Amino acid sequence: MSHLLSFLEHYGQMQRLQEQAGEYRSLLRREESRRRKQLRMLRGAYRQQVQDKLSLIESLEGVICEQQKVMETLHGMKPPSACPLYPCPPVTPVGVHRLVESISALQGERNKLLEEITGLRQQLEEGEKEKQQLAGSFDLQVQELKQQIEEREEELTRLRTGMGVTDSEKRIHNLTVENEGLKQSLSVTQGLLQQLATVSAQPSATLAKENEGLRSRVQHLEMSLQQKVEELVRLEGQVSALQWRKEQEVRRLDERIQELQLALETRQNRPPDVQYVTQTVEVESPTTLRSLVEAEERNRGLLEQLSSQGEHCQRLVEQLQGSEEVTAGLRDKISAYECEITKLREELLREISHLEAQKEEAVKEASECSEQHLEQLREQLTGVQRRLATLQPILKGMKMNYSSLRSQVHDFSEFYETAIREARRQMCSAASEASEASRDLLQKYQHEVLLRKKYHAQLVELKGNIRVLCRLKPVTEVDQREGEVSTAVSTEPGSESSVTARYKGKERTFELDKVFLPEATQEEVFLEIEPLVLSCLDGYNVCIFAYGQTGSGKTYTMEGVPEDPGINQRALQALYREMEAREGQWKYSVSLSVVEIYNEGIRDLLGKEPQEKLDIKLNPDGSGQLHVPGLTSVEVQGLREIRKMLSLGKRNRATYCTNMNERSSRSHALLTVTITGTNCSTGTKTSGKLNLVDLAGSERVWKSGAQGERLKEAQNINKSLLALGEVIQALRAKQGHVPFRNSKLTYLLQDSLGKGNKTVMMVQISLLEKNAGETMCSLKFAQRVCKVELGPASRRIDSWGQSEL
Ligand code: ADP
Ligand code: MG
Repeated sequence: MSHLLSFLEHYGQMQRLQEQAGEYRSLLRREESRRRKQLRMLRGAYRQQVQDKLSLIESLEGVICEQQKVMETLHGMKPPSACPLYPCPPVTPVGVHRLVESISALQGERNKLLEEITGLRQQLEEGEKEKQQLAGSFDLQVQELKQQIEEREEELTRLRTGMGVTDSEKRIHNLTVENEGLKQSLSVTQGLLQQLATVSAQPSATLAKENEGLRSRVQHLEMSLQQKVEELVRLEGQVSALQWRKEQEVRRLDERIQELQLALETRQNRPPDVQYVTQTVEVESPTTLRSLVEAEERNRGLLEQLSSQGEHCQRLVEQLQGSEEVTAGLRDKISAYECEITKLREELLREISHLEAQKEEAVKEASECSEQHLEQLREQLTGVQRRLATLQPILKGMKMNYSSLRSQVHDFSEFYETAIREARRQMCSAASEASEASRDLLQKYQHEVLLRKKYHAQLVELKGNIRVLCRLKPVTEVDQREGEVSTAVSTEPGSESSVTARYKGKERTFELDKVFLPEATQEEVFLEIEPLVLSCLDGYNVCIFAYGQTGSGKTYTMEGVPEDPGINQRALQALYREMEAREGQWKYSVSLSVVEIYNEGIRDLLGKEPQEKLDIKLNPDGSGQLHVPGLTSVEVQGLREIRKMLSLGKRNRATYCTNMNERSSRSHALLTVTITGTNCSTGTKTSGKLNLVDLAGSERVWKSGAQGERLKEAQNINKSLLALGEVIQALRAKQGHVPFRNSKLTYLLQDSLGKGNKTVMMVQISLLEKNAGETMCSLKFAQRVCKVELGPASRRIDSWGQSEL
């Protein structure tokens, strides 16, 4: 009982453990899915960042390209060396170099960024791998837990089988060890959870680092932009100085022209005495004029240069404005990007804190659960220990009881043996006394059995050696369907042997040996003739005929139906039963033959080749017995074989005709069972025959005007049935000559019908009014046969044998 209780407790515990393991598993699964989602989100955000960066880099590259083009155009402009007087200051080298440097620096940065991206990707992949490994290790852990649970279950089953005190102790020890193991596995699981948490924290750190890098790069880019702006301002200053210088030059040249013009005018206004001077002036003036023209040309070129420089300046200013706009756009983008980054970071931090909270909760839950479990186990342990403590004194008591019982059993066995010896002795003496008495009794009993048999035989003989029984066929369902329900036969209540038939307004009562009412069963019919049947085993020849018009139930009475067999089957069963009962005293051999008599021809129904018209001849052994040469007689070992033979006979009978029912009503079917017995102690031999005959229909066919073959058949049937009647009448009249040879049937049955044999005539009649004529004929025939006296029956025993009765 205590084992059962502990088993139940352990079982409950097991179930709780299993549930816990299930909870762990679901928790792990949830955690995993959450982490997967998180990773997916991080990956998406990261990809977005990378895209943004790439687009930023591209836009920066575009700006750089534009700057490069500007620089190239600036570089491509030759300094106005045609004017050695006003050399332009060198604009390009420093700015261009700086720009080139910044471009190369940007490209380097880009490459670095790309490298970083690939590095981050690798990190991400590694993270994933780690995650998978962790998941695998979790699975392994879960498997281990399962194994532990299974082990527990096994232990429990072992507990169930029952055990002693030491086993319980061992169990408790094992349980504590298992608890320890469980605790360890729990701590390992917690460690793994922490690892997972750190793994999940890693991506946020890398992102922060990346953000830092990006911010520094943006600062870098801003600085380079600032430098470029400064460069542009400087370039503007240079351009304005150049303009100012050019304006100064123009002004100087104008003044000079004015001076020259003034000088020219004064020279022209001088008197002729100044002819010489004029001439000189004229001489000199072409050169001056030439120089003037040259100066004017130069002046024009300078003006053109000035205008082109102005245009260039204008362009530069426009470019500057454009680049300022681009810079502002870039700044906006950067600020938006920064906003996004901060938002992302905040989200990330929120997510991380949320995950950490969840993780802590899960860990807390798990630890609480395990603690509770541990507590429960401890309680169970104390319970088991307590029970053990209570069990020990009980065990002691039981041991004592056992030893006292053992001694008692020992004492009892001794006492028992002596008692048995005594009883045996007494029984031996009593048995010897009883055996003497029983020998006496046995002798008396055997004498009584012999007497009983003798009286039985006498009773059978008193009843007559020809017994005429009448069976009334009930009105069947078929008859009712056909509307034939009016009857012409009646019986008197209280009388078992009379039957009254009414025909053509006249009633006639017939007295027979026994009349079976329509409701009589097959069993009742057989019980009436069973003693006659069994007398075959004592060496009597017995004939049982079924007589009556077609459809009156002859075949039903003789063969029966499979679910309710008739006389044939029941007789054979009874014979075998009796033979078994006589086993040891008598040895019997049984042989069987089945023939059909049709149109006065005998045909062997068990023969391999059907032979028409077998002959009946005297046995050449000089015994005066008849025999049928060529007739198959099969020696059978048991009922099963007999049934096989009977169905073979039936099959053979069916193959000879097209309509089995018609044929069976126009031929006699004869089954002969020959039983030869040998008395084991005296050697006496007996030989009896049981002839079971299903006669052809007794109806007078010619009355309905039958002709040809049918008429011939009817005549043959009538002849054989008449011959049967005559034979029986001759026997009754004790005539010297009995006309056995008048028909094949009577000739064949000569041995069994003669003096000293037993015959049962079962006359089947129909109750229906339409059959009243045939019923009357059948009953008349029965009446005739009934009055025949065959004389006392005689046994067939060897001449040297002795009659026991
Ligand atoms: P017969 O051999 O004389 O021509 P059957 O034995 O073939 O007649 O009987 C005709 C029909 O009546 C069969 O269907 C049979 O089963 C049925 N029958 C005959 N006697 C009985 C009975 N005592 N109880 C029930 N049905 C019977
Ligand atoms: Mg029949």
